[in-house]
Amino acid sequence: MLGRIVPANKEWIAEAGQMIRAGALVAFPTETVYGLGADATNGEAVARIFEAKGRPIFNPLIVHVLGLEQALIIGVLSPAARRLIEAFWPGPLTLVVPRTETTDVSQLVSAGLPTVALRSPDHPVARALLAEAHRPLAAPSANRSGHVSATRAEHVAADIGGKAALILDDGPTKLGLESTVVSLVDGAPVLLRPGAIPAEAIEEVIGERLLRREEAGDHLTSPGQLASHYAPRARLRLNAYEWKPSEAVMAFGAISEQPARAFVNISEGGDLIEAAANLFATLRTLDASGADSIAVTPIPQKGLGEAINDRLRRAAAPREQP
Ligand code: AMP
Ligand code: MG
Repeated sequence: MLGRIVPANKEWIAEAGQMIRAGALVAFPTETVYGLGADATNGEAVARIFEAKGRPIFNPLIVHVLGLEQALIIGVLSPAARRLIEAFWPGPLTLVVPRTETTDVSQLVSAGLPTVALRSPDHPVARALLAEAHRPLAAPSANRSGHVSATRAEHVAADIGGKAALILDDGPTKLGLESTVVSLVDGAPVLLRPGAIPAEAIEEVIGERLLRREEAGDHLTSPGQLASHYAPRARLRLNAYEWKPSEAVMAFGAISEQPARAFVNISEGGDLIEAAANLFATLRTLDASGADSIAVTPIPQKGLGEAINDRLRRAAAPREQP
């Protein structure tokens, strides 16, 4: 039965860890709010999170790790990042840092950006689940996108219950306020989201003032909201039914292959979850073919398709001048 609330004991956490490895979604408590977790290295599992939350796929997810060792495999940590980790992990501080070239964390987690948000939760159940799963966990708040965050297992069940394989119940969460999100990508550090750790405490550790979102400019703070976002080098031509042999093609569903510079079908079976999981990686592959134009065949405007189309429109939008 989906959405089953179970006590967060040793046996159920072990079961949940296996489910995560099998690609399922598991809701679990953290010190901030309940999270909806999936194997961050499994693109289809990550796509299911976006579907379950009704979350636009240009809004990247936080990756939960056990600590520094696991973080170093996924992200490039500056000296400031290391100092903050030493001071606040485990705890409600999320750091946005460049992705390593070798990480196997799904690109969908990063919404196609070259960065990744990392956090190490300070909750025994979250940590036990990370240990059992042997995987970094992509885990946004366990609520429908736009709803208030869930701070009790019952809230999770009411909001997205049917989408989680299991809900680990450990009573109300301690902080109930989301983690503080700080970007340490390049240039000045930016407070992307105020949260459970006050900005002043962070500024004290890095000996530098955090830029506020208004000061940092849109391109830094909310990349996903720009009209043009993760634009590949090639132009995108949407809703294409035909193409020239010189174009690269991103197909969806039962499309027969015609001559093209490069051709990738993101889901031959017409499965939007599979398509979402393949989207960003495919755009990169087709861009690398050297074609000037990428023709994209129509994708239905329903379920995850709405988000995929939104994302494609951003990628196709006229480029903004830096
Ligand atoms: P939630 O999904 O509720 O846990 O919120 C996660 C927050 O972290 C959202 O505001 C995301 O936009 C932000 N975030 C996650 N990854 C990144 C990233 N790579 N760059 C910028 N912001 C990020
Ligand atoms: Mg949220």
